[in-house]
Amino acid sequence: MDYKLIRGKRKTLSVSIVDGGITVKAPLAISVEHIDRFLASKRKWIEKKLAEQRKKSELLKPVLDGDAVLYHGAFCAVAVCPDRKRVLFKDGILDLPEKCSQKAARDKAISAWGKRVATVELKAALDKISARTGLKFASFALTNAKTKWGSCDGSGNIMLNWRLVMLDEISVEYVIVHELSHTKHHNHSAEFWAEVQKHMPAYKPVKKRLKAFSVLTSMYR
Ligand SMILES: [Zn+2]
Repeated sequence: MDYKLIRGKRKTLSVSIVDGGITVKAPLAISVEHIDRFLASKRKWIEKKLAEQRKKSELLKPVLDGDAVLYHGAFCAVAVCPDRKRVLFKDGILDLPEKCSQKAARDKAISAWGKRVATVELKAALDKISARTGLKFASFALTNAKTKWGSCDGSGNIMLNWRLVMLDEISVEYVIVHELSHTKHHNHSAEFWAEVQKHMPAYKPVKKRLKAFSVLTSMYR
């Protein structure tokens, strides 16, 4: 089994599956034999996780390859047009200028477009849900966070990952309700989850489904 090993000042071994690879975190002094035995004991779990991730990335392959974008939870084709100077989204197709024929330039154009759309859409959604729930926030900003969809600091400043525009409305609503609930409870206590549930009674399956989209936060980097 190939794996990435990170040694550090820690007492226990841990294994995680990140971007289709195995990462092991280990104490400084532990032997490779010990690590191999540990991995062998976790083999079933590791194989299951790897298979799950493979399935997920197959589904998202057109998006990962840059041939499609996810917008509002739907696959939209990406087309590179010779005469086009600017990015245009029309009839479910994202038209890009010719200079975007290379993947790197395409990713850059898609993320610039996504951020532009997110600035307007996420602010509107946040305002709307804030008004509906009565949960007030201090400020709003977009983030480019690598693993998080959103965050809320102790002063009620809310940050939302611009990639949320890729997700369906219900997922976006859950993230916003979650962050707005943090303006009242700065933790994940039972009281916090009761607050979330009060504003979004059926949040649990949405929260679970959101995990399947986590690969998206590492895109367009
Ligand atoms: Zn939280």
